[in-house]
Amino acid sequence: MIETLPDARGHFGPYGGMFVPETLMSALDELTAEYERAKNDPAFRSELDELLRNFAGRPTPLYLAERLLKDLGGAKIYLKREDLLHTGAHKINNALGQILLARRMGKKRIIAETGAGQHGVATATVAARFGCECIIYMGSVDMERQSLNVARMRFLGAKVVAVTAGQATLKEAINEAMRDWVTNVRTTHYILGSALGSHPYPMMVRDFHRVIGIEARRQILEREERLPDLLVACVGGGSNAIGLFHPFLNDESVKMIGVEAGGEGIRTGKHAARFQGGRLGVLQGTKTFLLANDDGQIELTHSVSAGLDYAAVGPEHSYLRDAGRIEYDYATDDEALAAFRTLAETEGIIPALETAHAIAHVIKIAPAMPPDKLIIINCSGRGDKDAGHFGI
Ligand SMILES: *Cc1c(COP(=O)(O)O)cnc(C)c1O
Repeated sequence: MIETLPDARGHFGPYGGMFVPETLMSALDELTAEYERAKNDPAFRSELDELLRNFAGRPTPLYLAERLLKDLGGAKIYLKREDLLHTGAHKINNALGQILLARRMGKKRIIAETGAGQHGVATATVAARFGCECIIYMGSVDMERQSLNVARMRFLGAKVVAVTAGQATLKEAINEAMRDWVTNVRTTHYILGSALGSHPYPMMVRDFHRVIGIEARRQILEREERLPDLLVACVGGGSNAIGLFHPFLNDESVKMIGVEAGGEGIRTGKHAARFQGGRLGVLQGTKTFLLANDDGQIELTHSVSAGLDYAAVGPEHSYLRDAGRIEYDYATDDEALAAFRTLAETEGIIPALETAHAIAHVIKIAPAMPPDKLIIINCSGRGDKDAGHFGI
């Protein structure tokens, strides 16, 4: 059964694990143990459920995209509206779960990395809500293209630290956060923002996002009295995708497609599609598919969306791809930008540029599917943060 993964040391088949400096091992073991206790503690569950409902705004609607459907023809398209959550993306599901764990461990200093800024905003939000000090590491390139989110984090009382090393995007921000954690591990909890990194993060982050798929399953059964035929989500580290997909993994009739960032096209090398020419390697705590050259050096990545612009993919995705359970495809920058406009103009929903990759893929395939087929797209976030891309 796929649902019993990972094993006790975080392995999803040959992927995952704990590739971290010795100084972090005890913190990761403490976190794993606390998570196991919390998971089985009804008080933890009910406090998290209460916050998800009344602070974050769950359950999110499952919305039938009727005008998009009319334009495209073909399969029936539903959107799981994670963009309607407090702070504007799915990230808050995980941030809330982890801040409760930090409190249980008596850690009052919170650090996080952020790419598009959505995870930084979610973390700054829960830190404010629980009265914790909060430091967010962010690449200087991302700070520029996501300046609205930088302002939001500062309003929330977080300190945003610009990371200028290397490509100055998400990978370098994670390096800085790990460095901070090694130094301050006794007082500090690191709220990692995707299903990435060392065990227990890929498992724990997945579990906090499973609520997306659990709700979607109940909602589609209510609406259509059957399971969907296809689930589609964009894949950066892979947290919104695994959150939607995981509760359906044992339903054989449900197909799943993860959409990576094709950037300027796979042949140009300017992309972040790890399953298109990526290889097995270790990056930032985990063994997984990543973009590296023959010497094992991590390649530069490119995507119009900061949230998908990362060289590695979550280890469970590598496993599920090998197992043939999830298919992975990609959408280019241009396709995502076109899909962004299409959804805004047909449905009155402005998606995040990350989300627009999933929409773009459905725009490609839905017209050729029979009208009795049901697709659910994870609408992972809203697009206000991307105004800067359009010179606004
Ligand atoms: C962060 C983000 C993503 C990418 O991260 P995953 O962990 O792959 O989900 C996708 N969409 C939005 C809106 C985001 O903020």
